[in-house]
Amino acid sequence: MASGGGAEEVSNKQVILKDYVSGFPKESDMYLNASGTIKLKVPEGSNAVLVKNLYLSCDPYMRGRMKQPIPGNETYIEPFKPGSPIVGFGVAKVLDSGHPDFKKGDLIWGMTGWEEYSLITATQTLFKIHHTDVPLSYYTGLLGMPGMTAYAGFYEICSPKKGEHVFISAASGAVGQLVGQFAKLLGCYVVGSAGSKEKVDLLKNKFGFNEAFNYKEEPDLHAALKRYFPEGIDIYFENVGGKMLDAVILNMRAHGRIAVCGMISQYNLEHPEGVHNLMTVVWKRVRIEGFMVYEYYHLYPKFLELVLPCIKEGKIKYVEDVAEGLESAPAALIGLFTGRNVGKQVVVVALE
Ligand code: NAP
Repeated sequence: MASGGGAEEVSNKQVILKDYVSGFPKESDMYLNASGTIKLKVPEGSNAVLVKNLYLSCDPYMRGRMKQPIPGNETYIEPFKPGSPIVGFGVAKVLDSGHPDFKKGDLIWGMTGWEEYSLITATQTLFKIHHTDVPLSYYTGLLGMPGMTAYAGFYEICSPKKGEHVFISAASGAVGQLVGQFAKLLGCYVVGSAGSKEKVDLLKNKFGFNEAFNYKEEPDLHAALKRYFPEGIDIYFENVGGKMLDAVILNMRAHGRIAVCGMISQYNLEHPEGVHNLMTVVWKRVRIEGFMVYEYYHLYPKFLELVLPCIKEGKIKYVEDVAEGLESAPAALIGLFTGRNVGKQVVVVALE
């Protein structure tokens, strides 16, 4: 620890992206830089905030930010910069602020760096945390971006009705576990797919899904879905894409809805798989609609009003997979693509 320019300067470990990634990401695509330092003050005249990072969120969309940008084929979010720290959602404590909306001691969630301390200039991405009677890590998942994704996707896109038949893929993950519980609270019949016996047990015994199955043990997904939905699917909450989407389309009911949240099975492929059964969408009059959570953040207060009491009353359960320390962050992130995480993948950087 040293002092410079009137501000305390401390060491600042960072997780750096080595270079753009193609194919499946590896731990070695990132490295820990332990030699950085940071001044614990915002620069004079700036309206940034200086935070201490507590929890970091590992999210599948981050894979898209590791890709080399293709000119003319830009996506919705900027790529990471090789040689710079990874950026993602996290929970942090404000140590210094030049912004009128934030003061020292505030807890926030939003976009921060994969490092011990961050100077955040894009303060418009930050939410102040007002409810601290729940674990702070929940603001990386259940009470943060993935929770809002489940809420917006289910209530705004799926047009759900009591008694409908709902199928969710990657169902035990950050988004899926909450979608299933929303559907159960509404009185739907809910089935989830996941990639291990442990996850299937969680879906049935912890999250209260009616049924669940391990898609890796089903040689014929169409037949598996027929088994669980003999009368067809009203709502499919799509998290994985690929062969699962094709099988689901064949099992949709007339006027069913497919909320396309993500397609994790395609994120590491150089050439995405095609979808073959789209004609069924025509004669079954199925609505397929993609959505992005960032268009729904205005609903965040309404979402908290619904979810916070449910957590406290035990009506909503939550499972997170917590990795310890920045050094474990690269393995935690790439683990999303092999299903290593059981529940929401979080990295603890510091407790207070
Ligand atoms: P998550 O489910 O917590 O973690 C990812 C899971 O995906 C893994 O644990 C694994 O579970 C499954 N998976 C990985 N590779 C797969 C493959 N090849 N085929 C099938 N499943 C695979 O992740 P999450 O944060 O809840 O995200 C779920 C989906 O929502 C992702 O597609 C993500 O991109 C999307 N999303 C979209 C928005 C939006 O605004 N549209 C916002 C947030 C998230 P198994 O062991 O079960 O295979």
